[in-house]
Amino acid sequence: MPAPNFAFDNSYARDLPGLYVDWQAAQAPAPLLLRLNHGLAAELGLDPAALEAQGAEIFSGNAVPEGAQPLAQAYAGHQFGGFSPQLGDGRALLLGEVTGPGGRRDIQLKGSGRTPFSRGGDGKAALGPVLREYLIGEAMHALGIPTSRALAAVATGEPVLRQEGRLPGAVLTRVAASHIRVGTFQFFAARGEQDKLRQLADYAIARHYPQAAEAENPYLAFFEAVQEAQAALVARWMLVGFIHGVMNTDNVAISGETIDYGPCAFMEAYAPGTVFSSIDAQGRYAYANQPLILGWNLARLAEALLPLIDADQDKAIEKAMAVLGRVSERYRAHWLAGMRDKLGLAGEDPGDMDLAEGLLAAMEGQGADWTLTFRRLGEAGEDAGALRPLFADPTALDAWLPRWRARRAPDAAARMAAVNPLYIPRNHLVEAALEAAGRGEMLPFDTLLAVVTEPFAERPGLDAYALPAPSDFGPYRTFCGT
Ligand code: AMP
Ligand code: MG
Ligand code: MG
Repeated sequence: MPAPNFAFDNSYARDLPGLYVDWQAAQAPAPLLLRLNHGLAAELGLDPAALEAQGAEIFSGNAVPEGAQPLAQAYAGHQFGGFSPQLGDGRALLLGEVTGPGGRRDIQLKGSGRTPFSRGGDGKAALGPVLREYLIGEAMHALGIPTSRALAAVATGEPVLRQEGRLPGAVLTRVAASHIRVGTFQFFAARGEQDKLRQLADYAIARHYPQAAEAENPYLAFFEAVQEAQAALVARWMLVGFIHGVMNTDNVAISGETIDYGPCAFMEAYAPGTVFSSIDAQGRYAYANQPLILGWNLARLAEALLPLIDADQDKAIEKAMAVLGRVSERYRAHWLAGMRDKLGLAGEDPGDMDLAEGLLAAMEGQGADWTLTFRRLGEAGEDAGALRPLFADPTALDAWLPRWRARRAPDAAARMAAVNPLYIPRNHLVEAALEAAGRGEMLPFDTLLAVVTEPFAERPGLDAYALPAPSDFGPYRTFCGT
């Protein structure tokens, strides 16, 4: 049998003893390879034919591929504002890292059984959430947003018990720049293990932000680099209407990638307070709160790094605060740059922020679909015929349009079509695809995946995929960690 050819080089295991536990996956009774991401496999230098043949065994965790060194990572985290000193990979295993043209990337199983960090959990994952993470991660990637990606989905053949009852079990294999989280730093900071904290920081610098090592204060430069990456990331989320849903510090990647897709979803009608997650009753992670939570989470990272930033803690706080004080400015710069693109504005004008905010004000309360508003605005030209019906009351839109027309670039239509997606993973379509998959019918999933991984080019026959949920779909609720 040919080998899948994982060129493992497991630096986390090699360089960071004490920051993880060597572990093995549970045995899946009847593993079945449901989906393999051929494009990603090729990017990783893997042999797709060998993976098709051996994927069920490897991606269920039943067989450990040559060179892998499975381990569960330790981390802590603030969950909805409260600190949990020990979380860790309760249902995930890092198989190892592969290096390729895209740099060093983690290969991780999720749902592969209990670990020493499982607490009360079963270590398993259900099919629906596994396919949801697969689909939304690939959609985000196609939108050009940094993200972990799915390499494979395997059905285990074993039911998992959830609130809804017995559900088919599954394992997701995901690929990420790394799984180092804000919470990874918090774990060692909270325990006062400064040597390990420093080792982790040095490792993260070398792996993700090597230029920080050259700075006068490498740990402060590292913090600033993470802040910049996270500010850019959250701005990208906001620009496509993405709501992560669980921006706990254990779900914030140091690399600046989107990780840990749980109850996330895309906003349809623009409403700043939009929350989908059933466990976020207070709206802590509502759409418009995400930039504020970005700053809150970075403050937790800064706290964890204080002992490394300066031996004098007063000075460390002063230095960290000077950087953190720029977070909203950095976020707004990324957001505004993205908005200029979305609105087809060439160059910069001091009135651009006001112009962008004017459109949001016109949309608010009018039921205007976030995605379609930008798309149809780009197609609007002199006639806003298809755009106006998106607004219950287009009066404010009508007043705004002349301002925009006076400012837009001559080639605005083409610019806007290239950055404003037509196809996003619409909530009702995602639910329908997962429901069908639960019955063993994968065609809706495959079709939706194909649609959302080519989000910009309009294609014939796909009109229904571009539309928001019908009104009888009702208010959308998403569920966590299942
Ligand atoms: P999440 O809400 O998915 O980000 O997970 C938060 C923490 O709970 C992490 O430490 C997870 O590993 C852990 N966890 C979530 N679901 C399970 C499960 N079914 N079994 C064990 N641990 C879990
Ligand atoms: Mg998580
Ligand atoms: Mg999770």
